Amino acid sequence: MTRHPHHPPHRTWAEIDGTALAANARTIREHSGADLIAVVKADAYGHGIAHVVPALAPHATMFAVANAAEAHEVRALAPRAPVLLLGPAAPEERADVVASGFIPMVSSVDEAAAYSQLSRTARAPIHLKLDIGMGRVGLWHEDAVEAVREIRALRGVAITGIASHLPVADEDEEFTRGQLALFHRVAKTLREEEGLAHAKLHVCNSAGAIRFPEQAGDLVRVGLALYGSAPVAEFQPRLAVPLVWKTQVTLVRDVPAGRDVSYGRTFTTQRPSRLATLAVGYADGYPRHLSGGGAEVIIRGRRCAVLGRVTMDQIVADATALDVCEAGDEAMLMGAEIPAAELARKAGTISWEIFTGLGPRVVRLARGQESGVRGQESDTRRLTRSTDG
Ligand SMILES: *Cc1c(COP(=O)(O)O)cnc(C)c1O
Repeated sequence: MTRHPHHPPHRTWAEIDGTALAANARTIREHSGADLIAVVKADAYGHGIAHVVPALAPHATMFAVANAAEAHEVRALAPRAPVLLLGPAAPEERADVVASGFIPMVSSVDEAAAYSQLSRTARAPIHLKLDIGMGRVGLWHEDAVEAVREIRALRGVAITGIASHLPVADEDEEFTRGQLALFHRVAKTLREEEGLAHAKLHVCNSAGAIRFPEQAGDLVRVGLALYGSAPVAEFQPRLAVPLVWKTQVTLVRDVPAGRDVSYGRTFTTQRPSRLATLAVGYADGYPRHLSGGGAEVIIRGRRCAVLGRVTMDQIVADATALDVCEAGDEAMLMGAEIPAAELARKAGTISWEIFTGLGPRVVRLARGQESGVRGQESDTRRLTRSTDG
C-alpha cells in the first residue's frame, strides 16, 4: 500500500504476527461457542488492516467496521466475507453501502426505509440494532415489535440479524446479566412471533464474549481480545500478543548530575547518567500523557525509564544501567512484556485508545519482515558470526 512509503531502516515500526491473531480468533470461538464477527475498524485497532484481515479471514464469519471507506478496504482484502457497519452510516454513505452489499446496522424505521428506497435487489440484508441500555444507537427495545412490523412491510430489505451492545460487560456483572436477559427475551419474541426466525443474534464485545459465553447468541463481535488484550484480566494468559511496537535509539549521551531533560524541565538527572534519545513521540501515538507517568521501554533486554516529557517526535530514556547502548539499537515500546494495558494505565486511558492511536509514521511490518534496525537477535547473530570467523 502506498500509505506507508517508508523504506528500512525504520525509525518506528510495529511487527504484526498473523499466527497470534489466528490463535486468538480460535480461542475466542472455542470459549464463546459462537461464530466470530472480527472487528477491524480503525485500521484493525492500529494493527494494519492489510495484515489483519488475511490472517483472520479463515476464522471470521464476518468482518465489522465503522464506515463505508473501511468496509471497502476489507472487501479488497477478503472479497467474499460479509462486512457489517457497526454504527449508523451517514446518509450520503447509504447508496454506496447498498450498492456494495455491505450490511448496515439499523437503529430506526427511517433508516430501513432509506435503504429500502435505494435497494435494487429483492432483499438487501440489514441488521436491527436494539438499545438495551447503551444509550448511543439502536431502537429502544420497547419499540422493537412495532418497528419490525413496519420494516418487514418494506420492499428491498431483509432483517438478517438482531444485535445490541453492552456498556459495562467488563465492570458490572449484575447489570450486564439483566441486559443480556432482556436482549434474549426481545430477540425471542422477534424470532418466534414477528417472522425473524432466521435472524442471527449478536450482543457480545470482547468482555461480553469472555465473561458471558453462555449468553453469547450466534455470533460475537470481538475486537480488543483478537489484538491480544483481555478486558477481563483472568483471561489475559489465554491470549497471544500479535503486535510489538519498536523504535530505535538515535543518540546516546553521557551527562553529569543536574541536567534537565526535555520540555518543561520536569526531570533533572540526580546522578551521572547515560541518556538514550529514541525516534518516537506523541505524533506516532506514544501518548504525551505518559510524561512523568513512569513509562518504560526495553533496550537490550532491560527496562529503561522514560525521562521528562514525551515530545512530538522523540523521547529520552535512561540507559545508565546498560553496559552498552548505541545509536541504532532497537528499543521496544509495547508488546508482550509491556502490554497496551500498562501504557494505558500509566497514560490514564484505555488499551483501545493506545492501539488506535498508533500513527501513520509507525510502519506496519509482518513479523519476520526486516526493519533494518539491529535488535537483540541480530546482535546475537553478529556475535556468533564473529566468534565463528
Ligand atoms: C468496537 C465495537 C465492538 C468491539 O469491542 P471490543 O471491546 O474491542 O471487543 C463491538 N461492538 C460494537 C458495536 C463496537 O462498536
